[in-house]
Amino acid sequence: MVLKLYNTLSREKEPLPDQKKIRLFVCGPTVYDYLHIGNARTYLFFDFFAKYLRARGYDVEYLENITDVDDKIIARAMTDGKDTAAVARSFTETFLADMKALGVNAVTTYAPATDFISQIIAQVERLIDKGFAYKIDGDGWYFDIAKDPDYGKLSGRTAAQAEDGVSRIDDSVGKRNKGDFCLWKFSQTSLTDLEPRWPSALGDGRPGWHIEDTAISEFYFGPQYEIHGGGVDLKFPHHEAEIAQQESASGLVPFVKLWMHTGALTMDGKKMSKSAGNFLTIRDFLKAHPPEVLRWITLTHHYRSPLDYSEEAVTQAKNELERIYGGIHNLAWAVDDALRITKGSNKEESEIAPLERLKGQFEEALADDLNTSKAFAALREIIFGDYGHFKERLELLKEMDGFLGLGFNKPIEGFSRELNAKIAEKFEEYKLSRANKQFIQSDALRKELKGLGYEVRDTEEGSVIVKKFF
Ligand code: AMP
Repeated sequence: MVLKLYNTLSREKEPLPDQKKIRLFVCGPTVYDYLHIGNARTYLFFDFFAKYLRARGYDVEYLENITDVDDKIIARAMTDGKDTAAVARSFTETFLADMKALGVNAVTTYAPATDFISQIIAQVERLIDKGFAYKIDGDGWYFDIAKDPDYGKLSGRTAAQAEDGVSRIDDSVGKRNKGDFCLWKFSQTSLTDLEPRWPSALGDGRPGWHIEDTAISEFYFGPQYEIHGGGVDLKFPHHEAEIAQQESASGLVPFVKLWMHTGALTMDGKKMSKSAGNFLTIRDFLKAHPPEVLRWITLTHHYRSPLDYSEEAVTQAKNELERIYGGIHNLAWAVDDALRITKGSNKEESEIAPLERLKGQFEEALADDLNTSKAFAALREIIFGDYGHFKERLELLKEMDGFLGLGFNKPIEGFSRELNAKIAEKFEEYKLSRANKQFIQSDALRKELKGLGYEVRDTEEGSVIVKKFF
């Protein structure tokens, strides 16, 4: 089944390039603070995406830069009265620790910009030699967007609208066009102690934001590669600038075949961002909830759609995930041939397993621009469907979790025949005492089961028992 992905550049769904090796670059964070769960949405998605491609047999090289030199880091160092490099170092460490805690581990290489200063300088020099860059005295080297006839092709903006309504545009009174951006910033005497600087024939200074990424990707991937990803907020000016820089420097088009953008995570309807003060850090989230909850919230929404985070969304995710874990636990229980306690699970196995059909539906949905919400409808049926084949279903779920990362093994870990037999026995006693209206006894059994991590629910169709995971 051909995998089709929405390409922001062509504005169409396109098949993934027909080759085994896929080079994927995703914009990493600017390390001036703890990361928030909006950043996490983007990294959780690309973690899933890279693992999914690998599960389909692609050889994915996943590269992510770390912006460890930037105005925001200098500003943070000033506020904290710390050395700029120390600020960047400590927030790089917290970023990597957060990724680990979230189970984000598909990245092949993390590349901090300050390790690539000579490559950055060389790329700026090439742009100067080819006439794409000009110098503003006392300020830095700038890219002249008027020299690039293709400028604006990703975002659909013209040079004249280049800086309307977006943040992180480089300000300078000496710019030729208002959308021109800084490639190399000269050292400012006012920032002497805090501003990182590198000696260079360009003039002592530091890199602009956009050039870091193209110098790094060119170093690892060369001037052209398959996929570039990031949050939709980076489409303009950042990704537009990357295209302008790399295509102008190399003369090769396209720089990247497929551009993928994740929708913004909002909280109470407003985009989560540090600058707006509207954010929840990954650490604070993980103090209160397991990582699978954020992954579930991320994956149950289509990656390009906006996603509104709220306490209700967390409660709903926990309920759904717990139901899923319960379903998987019951599959394991059925395989174990202990008492089958879920409704319908004691039916004879059907002759024709719908498992292949469901697997096909799941794969088809993902192949259509990663329609995870549609795929999850099939996933639910794989777990809860009433058609036997427990062992095959468990194996399939385990395989799927290799890229979903939703902890499907949790309900099976520590699975014990003895404990299950005991639970089953207590549950049977519970149902009997209830049928006999011995409510004191049934209440005591309910409490006992609760202490063992199980909850009894009395439904219209009879009592059911579920394992509690949260
Ligand atoms: P930054 O450090 O701001 O460059 O952000 C790091 C990554 O997180 C980038 O890919 C951003 O596009 C992404 N990002 C930032 N804020 C959000 C958000 N609210 N929702 C989704 N992704 C975001």
